[in-house]
Amino acid sequence: MILCVIAYSVDMLALVRYNAQQKNQVRIDMQALNAYLSQAVRRLRQERGWSLDVASQHTGVSKAMLGQIERGESSPTLATLWKIASGFNTSMSTFIEPDLSCSEETLHRSADKLRHQPATDQMLVAPLFPFEIDFGFEVFELTLLPGYQRYSEPHAPGVVEHVIVIKGQMELLADGKWQALRCGEAMRFAADKPHGYRNLTDNPAVFHNIIHYPRT
Ligand code: MN
Repeated sequence: MILCVIAYSVDMLALVRYNAQQKNQVRIDMQALNAYLSQAVRRLRQERGWSLDVASQHTGVSKAMLGQIERGESSPTLATLWKIASGFNTSMSTFIEPDLSCSEETLHRSADKLRHQPATDQMLVAPLFPFEIDFGFEVFELTLLPGYQRYSEPHAPGVVEHVIVIKGQMELLADGKWQALRCGEAMRFAADKPHGYRNLTDNPAVFHNIIHYPRT
């Protein structure tokens, strides 16, 4: 329980809460997020005994950018975070939220409190349930702002995404074609292949994404 409380307050600190009216606050929170991210990347790289060169080869992110991230000097886009997560064969929430370490506790989480906007992405992220190794999945609430489109690099082999639209409508690129998904519709697809998300409407589209990682 104590662990929970500590993790939760660190988590609140680390978040970049999306609030266009409070740009200064966002900037401060961004520094906290960068600080957490930089520690997480450095720790994982050291655990694997990788040099920056080797990490760059695995992730496809330049050595210079990785160095900047580790020094907390860069706010990487979600696309870059995904590349790093895939290269390290780990989940994305590893880099944006401390492990809750409370798998036996009942958790009550609020997307409104967790939602934030990394870097310049027009996608808002709320890590509802960060990755836990015993469960093998993470749950995000993701918001695509109007006009947003992103192609995702394939994730690690065996990763599967479950997309469930809870507000508005969006399109998902899977099996080589864009497919429309309306509120209440869901799609499961192999995320170890190229895929993408877009919102061609004038209103935000919100979906849950349950990302399953195979046991290694
Ligand atoms: Mn993906």
